[in-house]
Amino acid sequence: MALEASSESLDLASSFTLSASGTFAKEDFVIKRSGIAAINHTEVRRTGLQLQDLEFFEVLGKGASSLVRRAVHKPSQAQLAVKIINVFDKGKRDQLLRELRTLYSSQNYPWLVAFHDCLYDEGAMYIVLEYMDGGSLADVLQAAQLTGSSALSEPVLARLAARVLGGLNYLHVDRHQVHRDVKPGNILLNTAGEVKISDFGLSAELDSTTEMCATFIGTHAYMSPERLGGKPYSFASDVWSLGITLVECADGQYPYSSFSSANPNAFVLLSQIINDPAPTLSTETFSPAFADFVARCLHKEPEHRPQAHELLEHPWLRMHDDALRPFDFGAFVLTVNELRQPHAPR
Ligand code: AMP
Repeated sequence: MALEASSESLDLASSFTLSASGTFAKEDFVIKRSGIAAINHTEVRRTGLQLQDLEFFEVLGKGASSLVRRAVHKPSQAQLAVKIINVFDKGKRDQLLRELRTLYSSQNYPWLVAFHDCLYDEGAMYIVLEYMDGGSLADVLQAAQLTGSSALSEPVLARLAARVLGGLNYLHVDRHQVHRDVKPGNILLNTAGEVKISDFGLSAELDSTTEMCATFIGTHAYMSPERLGGKPYSFASDVWSLGITLVECADGQYPYSSFSSANPNAFVLLSQIINDPAPTLSTETFSPAFADFVARCLHKEPEHRPQAHELLEHPWLRMHDDALRPFDFGAFVLTVNELRQPHAPR
């Protein structure tokens, strides 16, 4: 029996169904309490993950429309990250499907966070993901600020950039997909030294009327001038976002002056990104190769920005190639975790 999901609105009823047995069905996905059951009318092999086998711990972070908690799978004691999304919200439902499609079809790809399963229970979707024990780059920046060393070094940033570009190259070339939300909060790290891109659910628009100014800014601060200016945008937009992320990590502060957590001004920020010259890195402080790398990512004209695979050949990344200069990225993440421990339980 299909439950009328229409008590909220007509739109809800027409866009998905919930059955009495606890099944979520929308477009190409059928999801049950016991996980993804079918995709495109074809049954999929079950992972055997059960909600009752998960023990939930602290909140790791909040996205625009979700909550992420650390969890332990009790039978195996494996640590997991579980993203919890309320599917009664239409915008969130659409984001969820977008994210699921990317996660499901990119399993085992090393530059994207691994996806285990998605479970549905009582109006909430639980996306079960690999736990990245170093948190996000935003967490790393915050830890650096709390400890007084506000910026990240070039050896760290070059490795980080190379790994993010690996992920973007996969998304752009193999999947013909623009990520659309590359920013420190969506770049995750672990103590094995891996860096992975997460959060594939963002739509072009903000989905909620309740989004506040700070959220608006948080979501738009890394967007390219062409995108903010309402022009067509594509893969080059993700390259711009990586450039802004690198400048912020190198300088220890977000490059546009209108963005301060005390008094952010969304309209001034948008105007600055669209009209001002792009941020640059000083060659007095940084290597010319790094400054050049960032300048290429932040070319105001998208057609002049190199593609991800071209940037992967840039001398700055070659200078910091692990084969030439070994660097223990995992040890770096471990040190940051230790710094972060007193401030944020994890
Ligand atoms: P998201 O909704 O994907 O943007 O996630 C929001 C925040 O939750 C991120 O900025 C991270 O701090 C945290 N987070 C998300 N996914 C994971 C994960 N797989 N492992 C650890 N932390 C995560």
